[in-house]
Amino acid sequence: MDDEERIRYRFFLGSGCRDREVTFAAWSDIDFKARTYHVRKKEDVGFKPKSHESRTIELPASLIRELKERREKHPHDRFIFLSKQGKPDNHFLRKLKKIALRAGKNCGQCKTTITVGEYNGKKRVEVSCKTHPVCEHYILHRFRKTCATRWLHASVSMRDIQVMLGHKSLATTQKYYLRWGVM
Ligand SMILES: [Zn+2]
Repeated sequence: MDDEERIRYRFFLGSGCRDREVTFAAWSDIDFKARTYHVRKKEDVGFKPKSHESRTIELPASLIRELKERREKHPHDRFIFLSKQGKPDNHFLRKLKKIALRAGKNCGQCKTTITVGEYNGKKRVEVSCKTHPVCEHYILHRFRKTCATRWLHASVSMRDIQVMLGHKSLATTQKYYLRWGVM
């Protein structure tokens, strides 16, 4: 991964956020002193957190440091992660799969059908993760899961974890851990 890619996925790993919550993370949501990310709605870009609640997530000190350096380089941007077109980036999953393929980390077993060609020349072909960025092992949810597991191991209370993950009920959070077998 290059530096740009690294900080993006570190943000996923350090915040446990959902895809869209990273896409619409703005600099004004980061409190560098308190080391937090405030997930909040932004109506002008059509972003609402799931279950409509804003929440505050504690970020690791190392991530805060990297964000600070990044902020100094990009003082005028509103959003932290921008696409080449200058829009809030929302292709994290696709990019992650490309990185995994490039790194030779795909399992080689996944098969899926993709559309190739344009306009009238479109056709469906079966491809394998040996040669295409389609490995099912690379999903953004794994960062969220790892982050939540780290919180648990760091003795963060279940109630705080519930809030930081943005779960509506404590039962959802508990089920989460039970399903993964970490509790
Ligand atoms: Zn695979």
